[in-house]
Amino acid sequence: MTDRRKFSREKCEIDIIYFCNQTEHKAKICNISRGGIYLESDYYLEPGSDILIKVADNSLETYQIGVIDGGHRGEVLWCKEVTKNDGEPIYGAGISFAIVCDKCGETFSHNEIRKTDSFLLLCLECFKQMKVLSDGGKIKESLEKHLIGNVC
Ligand SMILES: [Zn+2]
Repeated sequence: MTDRRKFSREKCEIDIIYFCNQTEHKAKICNISRGGIYLESDYYLEPGSDILIKVADNSLETYQIGVIDGGHRGEVLWCKEVTKNDGEPIYGAGISFAIVCDKCGETFSHNEIRKTDSFLLLCLECFKQMKVLSDGGKIKESLEKHLIGNVC
């Protein structure tokens, strides 16, 4: 199923510019999944801070990461030092973006989104509804099939 692969974690190497605390830095995206990226930068990124990422092409948009203010607005989830061969300190950081719910189409922050067994991303409200439906397993299955069909 190609639609699942489209949103699975993929290795890549994309040069970006990001703005964090009003300063501009260069970084490299090493990993993309729907709703989040992993990047490496020469600077420490404070977890919890807002970040605006600018990419030269539309490589993030293909992952349904929305554009606001000419860039991608996200939040730093975590940051840690990663060792490199040449000894220079490099920081790896996980960034999350707002995610569009597969069912209602509204945009939510990462902590309001839940992932179902069949890789759908749903807001808490839709997730709750889906849970109610799961009592009648067949309905849930057909609804998820329907939604996955919409995704690709
Ligand atoms: Zn929803």
